[in-house]
Amino acid sequence: MIEINGLEKRFGDQVVLHGIDLQVKQGEVLCIIGPSGSGKSTLLRCLNLLELPTQGSIDINQVHLSFGQGKVSESEYRRLRGHTAMVFQNFHLFPHKTVLENVIEGPLIVRRMDQQKAVKLGQRLLQKVGLAEKAGAYPAQLSGGQQQRVAIARALAMEPLVLLLDEPTSALDPELVEEVLVTIKELAEEKQTMLIVTHEMNFARDVADRVIFIDQGQIIETDHPNQLFTQPKEERTKVFLQKFL
Ligand code: ADP
Ligand code: MG
Repeated sequence: MIEINGLEKRFGDQVVLHGIDLQVKQGEVLCIIGPSGSGKSTLLRCLNLLELPTQGSIDINQVHLSFGQGKVSESEYRRLRGHTAMVFQNFHLFPHKTVLENVIEGPLIVRRMDQQKAVKLGQRLLQKVGLAEKAGAYPAQLSGGQQQRVAIARALAMEPLVLLLDEPTSALDPELVEEVLVTIKELAEEKQTMLIVTHEMNFARDVADRVIFIDQGQIIETDHPNQLFTQPKEERTKVFLQKFL
């Protein structure tokens, strides 16, 4: 469903992604691990076109975008964005909107859904993340874990083909991590295609169909979690994983 070829991202002279090749099947859950500054966020942001890649191509479900060869077609750009949705480390909820308003903002504005239908969808998604009774609350009245579950519901409201989660539990107090991981795990069981950047190795082992280890803008190793966590092939993967023992 997703094919990434030779994806490169530069910031000025600095090459942050060096020709990433990656294929993802529908329903697959990939966890991306790697040291700080290795390009994990940039990779997700390139897939959501929050950053424009400087070379290479991305194909998601019949939409094809090539970079570094002139201007990207506006319609293809919008279609690709419509196939992805992002969940950020710091939730990024609108503080002046209620929980329900946060969730239905995308459907109303971007998808031009009518109000009644959007509200129904929003309520269903809040139920799914266990926050139906918080629909009228404001983000500041919720715990970090609850805010992140709202952010997940908001991303799902775009009905993306692939959900991109960038360290979704890194900003949370330790006791709030589990409720968010449980929500993500339920999505994995429903075969929601996801790319998840995480430092939660036990979670990655549990939920991932494949784990990708990135270092210095390159995919060093990708494998089934049982294999990658117990018998990594590459020295750099071993050294990285040792820090989590
Ligand atoms: P990770 O998520 O793995 O910690 P990032 O993708 O955030 O890594 O960053 C990779 C590298 O790209 C870092 O060296 C970072 O400083 C650089 N970088 C990221 N975003 C920008 C930007 N907008 N402008 C310049 N450099 C950036
Ligand atoms: Mg990051």
